[in-house]
Amino acid sequence: MSTDFTLHRRALDCIAQGYLTNSKRPESLVKGVYPTHLKRGHGCHVWDYEGKKYVDFITGLGTNIIGYSNERVNLAIAEQMIDGASLSFGTMKEIEAAEKVKETMPFIDCVKFLKTGTEACLAAVKIARGFTGRSLVLSEGYHGWSDGFVSLTPPATGCVPGQMELLKDSRSKIKDAAAVIVEPVMTDASKARIEWLYELKDECKKHGTLLIFDEVITGYRFPRFSVSSYFGIEPDLIVLGKAIANGMPLAAVGGKYAVMNGSDYFVSSTYAGETLSLVAAIKTMTLLQTKYDLSDLWERGQRFIDSFNEFWPSMLKIEGYPTRGVFVGDSFTKALFFQEACNAGLLFGPSFFFNFPLAEEASNALNTIKDIFMKLRTGSVVLKGEPPKSPFAQRVRQG
Ligand code: PMP
Repeated sequence: MSTDFTLHRRALDCIAQGYLTNSKRPESLVKGVYPTHLKRGHGCHVWDYEGKKYVDFITGLGTNIIGYSNERVNLAIAEQMIDGASLSFGTMKEIEAAEKVKETMPFIDCVKFLKTGTEACLAAVKIARGFTGRSLVLSEGYHGWSDGFVSLTPPATGCVPGQMELLKDSRSKIKDAAAVIVEPVMTDASKARIEWLYELKDECKKHGTLLIFDEVITGYRFPRFSVSSYFGIEPDLIVLGKAIANGMPLAAVGGKYAVMNGSDYFVSSTYAGETLSLVAAIKTMTLLQTKYDLSDLWERGQRFIDSFNEFWPSMLKIEGYPTRGVFVGDSFTKALFFQEACNAGLLFGPSFFFNFPLAEEASNALNTIKDIFMKLRTGSVVLKGEPPKSPFAQRVRQG
């Protein structure tokens, strides 16, 4: 029996539903072929518990923009560890981290840190409701697992709906809403999408409705650090997470003083000021300002996608922007490709992510991918695992 199968069985025995993160469930990948658990990651490589090494295009679900276990980030965390992780009062680290977010997101005055994207989206909604005195929130995209959002998308059970509606069904209610929350770019960064965002911004402004950009994925993955800055559309509130601390747990909501300090809302978390994640964030943002150039990564990511899309465009393509995309093709071809890639030491997942260390591996990976497509074209490859089922966040995005 493989180590991996044993681990999956152990997990089912002691972890509710057998998993912690929906997109990491074995069913979201090619169950039976993919490793279910990973032991370690370094740069763009990960190792499973049988010692097999992979090039990882999932990048911890888009968290480690400068790669797993980055030396400089590690050092910052190690130094901070000596001074403690959760102190009894605020620390200078939270001030420095907030100042860094302001430097990288110049359209905001202040932030509130939290641990997860879910919490930061909830906080954004609460701040908007406090500021406007309205309750209704209109939503598009995925904003975490809190009741209001999840109740919009059955079949998740156990949710009490909470004054939320889908933007696509209730656009005429913008005038009555506290806020509209969208992922400004899911994968489509076309001119039409950006114009749509500008129109949305104007409509919200006209009615005193706050526009919230959930940039949990796009934040620190676009040149100039955000969709908001890249396209010059300033939301009233921005939500950040994932890449901000290169994989350490940190999220943030930010905006102008008038909104962020505009009501007596209550948002509070024991761990919000936990220092290890804050120093990881300070170091990551600093490195993205000085050493790693997101515009350069974009060029290299686009080249990777263009090359990938030349292999067998009628069967499988990547669609998206240079640092994130989705695989477009029928689910069977996708599963066959994922299986063969995994066997050849390349890990792909529901979303395609591109980070700095992957840019260094791109040409080797493309050679392997070319061979895989040649094999697939012979029609002789048999699927040995189960085709992936879309994880929850992807189903919500497809609306
Ligand atoms: N918003 C978006 C756009 C996300 O992609 C996610 C996570 N995938 C969340 C919010 C929720 O973040 P978390 O999983 O950290 O709660």
